[in-house]
Amino acid sequence: MIVIGLTGTNCAGKGTIAEYLKNKSFYYESLSDIIREKLRGENKEINSDNLVAKGNELRERYGAGILADLMLEKIEDDNCKNYVVDSIRNVQEVNSLRKIPCFFLFDIDAPLEIRFNRLVSRNRKGDPKTLEEFIADEERQNNLNPLYQQIKACQELANVHILNDSTKEDFYPKIDSALNSLLPDIAERFKRPRWDETWMNIAKEIARRSNCIKRKVGAVIVKNNKYVSSGYNGTPMKNKNCYEGGCPRCTSFAKSGSAYGECLCEHAERNAIEQADDDEREGATLYINLAPCLDCSKGLINAGIKEVVYETPFPLEVRDKKLEEAGVKLRKFEK
Ligand SMILES: [Zn+2]
Ligand SMILES: [Zn+2]
Repeated sequence: MIVIGLTGTNCAGKGTIAEYLKNKSFYYESLSDIIREKLRGENKEINSDNLVAKGNELRERYGAGILADLMLEKIEDDNCKNYVVDSIRNVQEVNSLRKIPCFFLFDIDAPLEIRFNRLVSRNRKGDPKTLEEFIADEERQNNLNPLYQQIKACQELANVHILNDSTKEDFYPKIDSALNSLLPDIAERFKRPRWDETWMNIAKEIARRSNCIKRKVGAVIVKNNKYVSSGYNGTPMKNKNCYEGGCPRCTSFAKSGSAYGECLCEHAERNAIEQADDDEREGATLYINLAPCLDCSKGLINAGIKEVVYETPFPLEVRDKKLEEAGVKLRKFEK
């Protein structure tokens, strides 16, 4: 996920760059929209005065970074996309967004008169009408109170400064070259999970499909980092689900390790083995969120599995010995 934050003076062209980035597959978000939503919820008019006042009130109540914190929650949910986040006006908002490894702050600026002319020509309701009002508005955005708007201080923190003092046609190449200048940093900060983490996460996702009332276990078989098969624990196909009473041992919440032979739930690793062909299993690795039992370990040895990676330990000396004797590596997953 790459996040471009936008800060800068009024009518400098933040809207234009946001539109331009949207056309480059960046998803648009705005800290002001969070305030707008709050105003709507309170049935208050959405104008510049109310937006400033509500923003200040939120920062006073929840801390200077609150708007960015709320934004982080929202975009981290879907962190496979790139975002452009508009309306950054407080230093703590910048600090908060810097928690994202590939976050870059863009400062967009233009001389006062050019910006005022843009304001006049956009003729938006609630905008200042005279140059004096425009300047006064801007002064309010550079508050000494760290909880209020501090555009200048944000501009100073920017990774990139773009002067938009001419036409859009002149502005776009500047944006392109700014993006281009970030590539070495992006390469350095780019985050993705290790293979181990990816497969264990898949095993845990598969575990969520388990129908066992006692414990959810998921397993994935992988060969040369290619997916082979998966399985989760639960009663056999066409049998009543464990959570519906399909396994009397499980529904009686039997003491762990006791009456094992009476359990009607098949284990995740067994199911994963059964889903794979002989040649696919040979020399493969099994990822599982719970270390295998003795019985399954015998099956894993016979299936030709060469490595078992588990998350939650389940100490069993005889299993460890048998796996070792068969040359199967048992390894705990490390985050
Ligand atoms: Zn069960
Ligand atoms: Zn087992």
